[in-house]
Amino acid sequence: MATDAYEAVIGLEVHTHLLTRSKLFCGCAASFGAGPNENVCPICMGMPGVLPVLNRRAVELALRMGLAAHSHVQDYSVFARKSYFYPDLPKGYQISQYELPLCKGGYIEIGDGDGEPRRIRLVRIHMEEDAGKNIHEADASLVDFNRSGVPLVEKYGLSCATSAPPKDDWRKVISAATSTSRCALRVLRSWAPRPKSKT
Ligand SMILES: [Zn+2]
Repeated sequence: MATDAYEAVIGLEVHTHLLTRSKLFCGCAASFGAGPNENVCPICMGMPGVLPVLNRRAVELALRMGLAAHSHVQDYSVFARKSYFYPDLPKGYQISQYELPLCKGGYIEIGDGDGEPRRIRLVRIHMEEDAGKNIHEADASLVDFNRSGVPLVEKYGLSCATSAPPKDDWRKVISAATSTSRCALRVLRSWAPRPKSKT
């Protein structure tokens, strides 16, 4: 079959919430479960003239993830504004990292179906803020901004890597999958003890 000539190469874009008490650039609570739009302020709502201040604890947790994933922590990284319109993004832009992320490279090792180690290579780990949440009901669409500005790390991984050398015809591999599939992982805060730090 013609399909035998192809090998699927799947890239994942994985979002993970960092376990901080406050948001990435303001002091609003980053917890789940509050009433709609209770955890908001002029900063995470993107009002004119506000000054975002980076959450130190969020950076520490992102760095820990980079070290745990054998990633190369960069000496210099930069936040940028990614401008786009979406109803749950009142600012019209998301503060994210693009050209200069916090970490590059690395891998996460898991076991395959036979118990053999398999490495998921990482392209990068960068920090960014989350957007709000749209809620669509029968006769209305509502927006809850409690999640706006909650810190995330975003990882790009390729699922095709193994600890074995790549195939000779590696460069001939054609991606039969879409370029990236989006996969949002929510870290349930009940899985881990709450941090003692105020930030
Ligand atoms: Zn806020």
